Amino acid sequence: MTSSPFNPVESLADMRHEFGEHGGVNMSIEASTTFTVLEPELLPKLFQGQLGPASGGFYLYGRHYNPTVYVLGRELAALEGTEAGYCTASGMSAVAAVVLQCCDHGDHIVASDALYGGTYALFHDFLPRKSGIHSTFAHVSDFSALEAAFTSRTKLLYVESLSNPTLVVADIPRLADLAHKHGAVLAVDNTFSPVFLSPAQLGADVVIHSLTKFINGASDCIAGAICAKQELIDQMMDLHGGALMLLGPTMDPRVAFEISLRMPHLGLRMAEHGRRALNFSHRLAERGLSVIYPGLASHPQHRLLARLANPGYGYGGIFCVDLGTAERANRFMELLQNEESFGYIAVSLGYFDTLLSCSASSTSSELSLADQRRAGISPGLVRISLGYTGSLQQRWEQLADALDRLDRD
Ligand code: PLP
Repeated sequence: MTSSPFNPVESLADMRHEFGEHGGVNMSIEASTTFTVLEPELLPKLFQGQLGPASGGFYLYGRHYNPTVYVLGRELAALEGTEAGYCTASGMSAVAAVVLQCCDHGDHIVASDALYGGTYALFHDFLPRKSGIHSTFAHVSDFSALEAAFTSRTKLLYVESLSNPTLVVADIPRLADLAHKHGAVLAVDNTFSPVFLSPAQLGADVVIHSLTKFINGASDCIAGAICAKQELIDQMMDLHGGALMLLGPTMDPRVAFEISLRMPHLGLRMAEHGRRALNFSHRLAERGLSVIYPGLASHPQHRLLARLANPGYGYGGIFCVDLGTAERANRFMELLQNEESFGYIAVSLGYFDTLLSCSASSTSSELSLADQRRAGISPGLVRISLGYTGSLQQRWEQLADALDRLDRD
């Protein structure tokens, strides 16, 4: 049994290992899209939800449940300490399915004003137009603005545990109290902070991941997950009214297998990402640069994060450096990629190598300039998802050299 307090790595290791069909140490990939029953009377019971993977080990159809994808869902539920987990074809489909399950036409969302650009566009533009679901955005630390944003139709409070890209830390216990006081669900996107933050243990009702990022860690799969109470996952999988079942953002079992191979070393990877990001942010701050990293004592919510975080896994692999202008930010990234081999100019994050992007002109470009300014995304802000290839000293020398050259330009 897992020792107390909750430790995601121990919780995952407590899970019964799924062996392969022939005794292989890895589970087998079940590629079938449809499944036989020995007695025809069983089929209606599967359709009525009386039988399923958790009740009797029955499977019906791959868009409903697939044994390989089901195992990965259970691994993610163990990681987050929730009753159930379900894997999807992308992070965005996980976000969209949660919203559409929790909100009906005319319902309302209170959302953080610092969200991944795609999520922001979904809430700000797509949902009001397509489904009459409206959102009010507020700063995740401004509790009076959040409180004032609730209406009698608010069904969801939606935040990112660490916001993309500004790394504002969400006070999840306080947000959970607020949501529950208004009868709403608190959904937390934990993409930036797997292992070191466990939102469900802090009061969140739903935890969403883009598995595309740190959890997979190799930038070779697009995938997502939803971790929640069994009741919500059952509702989402309902054959008549479930957002997952009916919209069908199903994960391919081959992808589930690939990702499940990377789960056992997620804790080690996060700790190393965090160790390096903390070291580099310290050194950059010492050089007088404007750095955002929640592991730094100077970060406005550092103490909050230290209180909420699971000890021993650091504070994440992402930090931002503000170079002042878009031109300097671009030159800096160009030097780092083309001259120093420090990393790649590319969106996304959580890769084993370093990824560099200027958020204002890329992953946050869905926000208007005014909304970017409100969210603290300046034109020269470079988001760095720090990898762990090479040695720390080697990478630091490349980074310092690029900064020296930038200063000389
Ligand atoms: N949530 C966050 C915080 C993200 O950064 C992203 C993508 O960058 C997503 C969700 C969407 O994930 P995906 O690209 O897997 O659909």
